[in-house]
Amino acid sequence: TLTLSGKKIWVTGHTGMVGSAIVRRLLSEKCNILTVAHGSVDLTRQEEVENWIVDNKPDIVIVAAAKVGGIHANSKLPAEFLYNNLMIEANIIHASHRVGVEKLLFLGSSCIYPRNTSQPIKEEQLLAGPLEATNEYYALAKIAGIKLCQAYRAQYGDNFISIMPCNLYGPNDNFHPEYSHVPAGLLKRFHEAKLLNSPSVTVWGSGAPLREFLHVDAMSDASVFILKHYSGKGHLNVGCGQDISIADFADKIKRIVGYRGQITFDTTRPDGTLRKLLDISKLRNLGWETKVDLDTGIEAYYKWFLNNQNSIKQ
Ligand code: GDP
Repeated sequence: TLTLSGKKIWVTGHTGMVGSAIVRRLLSEKCNILTVAHGSVDLTRQEEVENWIVDNKPDIVIVAAAKVGGIHANSKLPAEFLYNNLMIEANIIHASHRVGVEKLLFLGSSCIYPRNTSQPIKEEQLLAGPLEATNEYYALAKIAGIKLCQAYRAQYGDNFISIMPCNLYGPNDNFHPEYSHVPAGLLKRFHEAKLLNSPSVTVWGSGAPLREFLHVDAMSDASVFILKHYSGKGHLNVGCGQDISIADFADKIKRIVGYRGQITFDTTRPDGTLRKLLDISKLRNLGWETKVDLDTGIEAYYKWFLNNQNSIKQ
């Protein structure tokens, strides 16, 4: 077990949804949280990252910094998704190795797995088939990140680990109408339709794809648990163990927001992968499981949205 007490922990991407959740979770550990002021270090520039890490010497590094977005953002910005993510992770991982960081946690996503693969998806199914086209550039960058951690472990014995969460939602999510992920896109659309009394709300795709959703506070709790208790070579899946169709997910958000109109499906929009339910038995066997069910999580999400409407990112 790794003790976090007294350690300097650099949380990269601390203003994002995942990074900010990890910072909130770490506040209850007696550690010293390091963050980089926005705009002061460009994580895609190697020299800036190396200078910062030499000056600040963290004991532990969490790679939550990434260029992220939903299905539409991924298809519009493939160069940014591949280049930025490769540079960010390579710079942070290599610099962490050079200054002798004690442990590094790299965060990816369930989109790293092949498009057509058996469900629920075990960690070993990585690279067993072609990727889903709608997010392959992001997925390739994240696969490279997992492999970088494994390579530094194999060649230098660095304790660098990776975790791959399912679809996440929660405070500090991005609510851009086109570039967000489905929870933020739908929450905002249903909320605005309720205020405007619109007769219908559009949901992208057929409604048939299945997705597994986890509140980001559960994800950050899992991250800290894994940081303390896991030092294996292989990456770990993080999820809730259950998926839901986009149609049912939209119904749930509609009910929680209190919208009374109709739902229509825009089938000119892509569905993406049909299913990506994670096998979470490795994490369960380590002793972690989520305590937040989807209804409770989405209710908290809507409450956060209502309380932060003036400052939401989009
Ligand atoms: P993915 O899990 O990588 O495909 O990421 P997304 O969260 O962007 O999309 C999940 C699924 O929700 C896809 O099938 C989308 O077509 C569908 N979807 C339905 N409505 C929306 C929306 O308003 N925004 C987004 N991003 N996806 C939506």
